[in-house]
Amino acid sequence: MLLTITTTRRPADDLGYLLHKHPGRFQSYALAFGTARVFYPEAGEDRCSACLLLDVDPVGLVRGKAGGEGLLDRYVNDRPYAASSLMSVAIAQVFGSAMQGRSNDRPELAATPLPLSARLDVLPVRGGERFLRAVFEPLGYSVAAERRPLDEQFPEWGESPYFAVEIAAETTLSQLLTHLYVLIPVFDDAKHYFVGDAEMEKLLAKGAGWLAGHPEKDEITRRYLKHRHGLYREALARLAPGEPADVDEADEPSARVEDSLEKPLSLNDQRLGAVLAALRASGARRVLDLGCGEGRLLRLLLKDPQFEEVVGVDVSIRTLEAARDRLHLDRLPERQAARIRLMQGSLTYRDRRLEGYDAAAVVEVVEHLDPPRLAAFERALFASARPATVVLTTPNREYNVTWENVGPDRLRHPDHRFEWTRAEFRAWAEAAAARHGYAVRFVPVGPDDPTLGPPTQMGVFTRGR
Ligand code: SAH
Repeated sequence: MLLTITTTRRPADDLGYLLHKHPGRFQSYALAFGTARVFYPEAGEDRCSACLLLDVDPVGLVRGKAGGEGLLDRYVNDRPYAASSLMSVAIAQVFGSAMQGRSNDRPELAATPLPLSARLDVLPVRGGERFLRAVFEPLGYSVAAERRPLDEQFPEWGESPYFAVEIAAETTLSQLLTHLYVLIPVFDDAKHYFVGDAEMEKLLAKGAGWLAGHPEKDEITRRYLKHRHGLYREALARLAPGEPADVDEADEPSARVEDSLEKPLSLNDQRLGAVLAALRASGARRVLDLGCGEGRLLRLLLKDPQFEEVVGVDVSIRTLEAARDRLHLDRLPERQAARIRLMQGSLTYRDRRLEGYDAAAVVEVVEHLDPPRLAAFERALFASARPATVVLTTPNREYNVTWENVGPDRLRHPDHRFEWTRAEFRAWAEAAAARHGYAVRFVPVGPDDPTLGPPTQMGVFTRGR
């Protein structure tokens, strides 16, 4: 299994200092389960690539373990070829200092975001390309993935669960290695060793700063901890500490969706996490929260210094007053107070005050608009306010059948004027995007049912040039 890391930041061969591995030498490291080798297929001024090649000894992997069932499976498997938790161990052992962001020779470079890419030639991905993108894209990576056929000689056998994957971003080497270290076994959804408390601590430490706000944090955590319920619930609780669950009554029934053992994070929290992650990944500094309600998202935005200016807009004065109280706007320190504003306004009218922002969130608001007003909303948002990024969520009506106490009209809330199926939302979003020069991609929020889809659907619109 092979991992290739490339940078184009001049002088690119400084990568050798960051990895603590000399580009001119071919180096080998003995690991418990095989040998890791590091070499540089190219090491120029403009472009430099380092390869970590892992030769796994499948017999060594089994040696010392008790025999029993599935012994053949232990010898004949994909572990020697596919990137897995073994690769993570190799990253930690061979590139440990780089992963921690330490460099004696180039300390400032270690802390600087660089143009970096990582290629994994054989990555098993349970959940396919969609999951791959749902994990890497909110972290700011572009993703190129090619699914490998089961056998190149026999294309009719169909596709394998293996992908050739390349991700790229402007990021620190330490972040890139950390993401790979945590996520490779998550895609594989298997680990070669026992998972206990230590593994949870490792996840919380390595996930610091990016996992708590990740829209897929639930699934990442579950898989990382090998589906061990107790561990995974504790990890999730610690990822979002001290936030009393603000369950909005419309969403409360979601608690019944999964069995009580695995009481999920409230849908509301997952939704806000997904929106926050998409806003972060967009690089936005000045953001609008349109239909901000009582300010749940505003509170999270205020906590993140990336967002220099945060503006909440709502049509209801009473709601804005509640937001003001909840956010303690009259008691904020001056510097914080200068970052946030609340404005009364309607989203179905053109409003000059909303022009020129980097991003807008529109969370669970469209379904409150009368269908005949949708066209006006679309113009006010995409033609007039025209932020570079729009993150919009709305219920997926198909999911409602899983809940007992949705109203007689089968909608989740008496004030909802409609709820869209996935196809209806897509049709509206794609047409609106096309009319106004945006691209849109769709992200499921909450448990994604194979036939009904997720409870919440999210569209991330990005403005073209
Ligand atoms: N985004 C918030 C609130 C969602 S509830 C959250 O996720 O918690 C919908 C909100 O949209 C309400 O606060 C309602 O007052 C507001 N709203 C409804 N129609 C609106 C309109 N035409 N213009 C602005 N806000 C509107």
